[in-house]
Amino acid sequence: PEANAILSVVKLTAGYGAAPVLDDVTFDVRPGEMVALLGANGAGKSTIMRALSGLLRPVDGNIVLDDKAVQALEAYRIARAGLALVPEGRQVFGEIDVRDNLVLGAFSRKDADLDNEIEALLKRFPRLRDRITSRAGLLSGGEQQMLAIARGLMANPRVLLLDEPSLGLAPAMINELFDVLAELRDEGVTILLVDQMAALALTVVDRGYVLESGKIVHADTAAALASDPALEAAYLGRV
Ligand code: ATP
Repeated sequence: PEANAILSVVKLTAGYGAAPVLDDVTFDVRPGEMVALLGANGAGKSTIMRALSGLLRPVDGNIVLDDKAVQALEAYRIARAGLALVPEGRQVFGEIDVRDNLVLGAFSRKDADLDNEIEALLKRFPRLRDRITSRAGLLSGGEQQMLAIARGLMANPRVLLLDEPSLGLAPAMINELFDVLAELRDEGVTILLVDQMAALALTVVDRGYVLESGKIVHADTAAALASDPALEAAYLGRV
């Protein structure tokens, strides 16, 4: 694994049934970085997120978090070790209120200071303060995404994993979302992001990896990826 990395993925192979979707995927995330995984539909981005969070057992390879191999651990142990997934489609608990959703985000911790940590998060996500006693299912899509991210942060993760956070949101809300992500990174939260909005993602992340049919085909700084004409045609032009 990469020295200085907080998360190293080494030669990861994973899939569903016999056919592997991911083939020898290697990348790393360093402390305080925001890193994007980019690629077309079906390239395997969500599959990486599932493998990282223990929802899909890798066939081969290593997932190393803080120098500890976690690929064989059960999902709740991976969460406890510090990988928190904010899944695609938000998946907040719709029948309970916003505060209880945040409390559940800390399920893997024994040290949570709930009142103070929730208060700190509500400063970051003021829309949630106004809705704190609302059932989460009644929030708008954008508010639910903010709640899903805030719930992920309640785990106090070493790396926050965000799978398609902008999916289905209105353009103004997407801009607000990326502003929040940039602020979190500036405060030192380490983030691994999967998003279809490649051009926009490259305006906020530090580095990116481009995935094609389950393989990493480009790895570079966000600025270099954003100005690469080949990538522009393949991925960025669609945005
Ligand atoms: P998208 O943005 O469309 O979600 P993605 O890059 O996240 O794309 P994945 O969801 O990781 O792609 O899917 C990668 C491949 O794995 C696709 O060919 C997909 O059809 C296949 N796949 C995904 N989930 C399953 C599953 N549960 N069972 C079988 N095949 C699957």
